[in-house]
Amino acid sequence: MAEKITAVKGMNDIFPAESAAWEWLEAELRELMTRYSYRNVRTPIVEPTALFVRGLGEVTDIVEKEMYSFEDRLNGEALTLRPENTAGVVRAIVEHSLLYDGGKRLYYMGPMFRHERPQRGRYRQFHQFGAEALGFAGPDVDAELILMACDLWKGLGLTGVKLEINSLGQPAERQQHRQALIAYFEAHADQLDEDALRRLHTNPLRILDTKNPAMQVLVNEAPRLMDHLGEESLAHFNGLRAILDANGIAYTVNTRLVRGMDYYNLSVFEFVTDQLGSQGTVCAGGRYDGLIGQIGGKPAPAVGWALGMERILELLKAGKLLPAPPAPDVFAVVPDAAAWPAVSQVLRVLRQQGLKVQMHAGGFDGRGSMKSQFKKADGSGARYALVFGQDELAQGMVSVKALRATDEQSTEVAQKQLPLADANLWAQTLAN
Ligand code: ATP
Ligand code: MG
Repeated sequence: MAEKITAVKGMNDIFPAESAAWEWLEAELRELMTRYSYRNVRTPIVEPTALFVRGLGEVTDIVEKEMYSFEDRLNGEALTLRPENTAGVVRAIVEHSLLYDGGKRLYYMGPMFRHERPQRGRYRQFHQFGAEALGFAGPDVDAELILMACDLWKGLGLTGVKLEINSLGQPAERQQHRQALIAYFEAHADQLDEDALRRLHTNPLRILDTKNPAMQVLVNEAPRLMDHLGEESLAHFNGLRAILDANGIAYTVNTRLVRGMDYYNLSVFEFVTDQLGSQGTVCAGGRYDGLIGQIGGKPAPAVGWALGMERILELLKAGKLLPAPPAPDVFAVVPDAAAWPAVSQVLRVLRQQGLKVQMHAGGFDGRGSMKSQFKKADGSGARYALVFGQDELAQGMVSVKALRATDEQSTEVAQKQLPLADANLWAQTLAN
């Protein structure tokens, strides 16, 4: 036998036992987006590497060590599998001048790629769902996005997802804070790890994002950006807080929240849970007013968030909040292969009527005993078995047998014969 080929490490296959939950969550998300008037955008999975280097910032975890970048063999172009989708959305908006007639509310979903150490809640191909509001400057739209996420947790039945917010101010305020940070970290250089030392003069703010436990005390006592914010930035932040307060949304102000990409300014936020071990951030986002200009567009404000589908699904599973996977309405039991031409016509009618139908399959010689077919019918989760016996078929009839306890009590269809010719009609009975 040839050697097996396995999936790339950290990249998962998703089979029906799980994909039903994925499809359900995706539908819930689409429905939520429709209620908030956000519309779907789909951008390529491969983008020019320069988009992320320029968009996310050179001194970020993603650009420094997590991107799947490669050279196109045919023309030498530098390409990258998208590690996130905001830069791609902004590229698309700019390229097609979509903001010419006003702001846009968009959402996306799909696979993202980061070369990280695979572990629970952290994969190399993972899936994000994100919402972006482009062309709007006020804190009202920041609040809209946060409320939308809160509605999602509520709708899904997730409790224990906590909101943290912060303001990163504007570049000039960050510059001031940066000087203060550098001075502080220089004075404590002996406590910095290798990453921090490297970033001390290139991106000291990112040091605050460290996951190194040994540096937590140092980082906790570092100068706070909040103390360097000017009047306008504070007004924006307070505007957001006022709307959250009015809606009874609980949050904590986490002055250490900085986010992993360089493009953020003003409001940033994360939704975190303690139910997922160390991968506790389920949704994160913020304002990125500088990004559109950075990607070559006419400067315009923007704000958005992205959530990790795998992490949300894990929470839903742990909380037993996932719906039962879909089962067929009817399972066709066919004792004799000779009946197949007649049976196939009836099953088509049922499917055209919207019923979910599973047929026993196995080729013309391997139809299986009645016993094994009924076992399969039970295992399928179907509500009814349709038994296409030869004698009944000859009389133009088919037997319906209820497979589930609740249906067995209903006299309507408990165990009866239905006329084949009326499949259109009785399909409705079975659908209810
Ligand atoms: P983390 O701090 O966990 O690395 P991040 O700041 O890199 O997260 P973002 O880039 O903001 O994450 O992505 C938004 C969300 O996408 C995260 O909150 C998380 O739920 C999810 N996510 C990010 N990276 C991964 C990954 N490698 N595997 C699974 N989900 C991920
Ligand atoms: Mg990360």
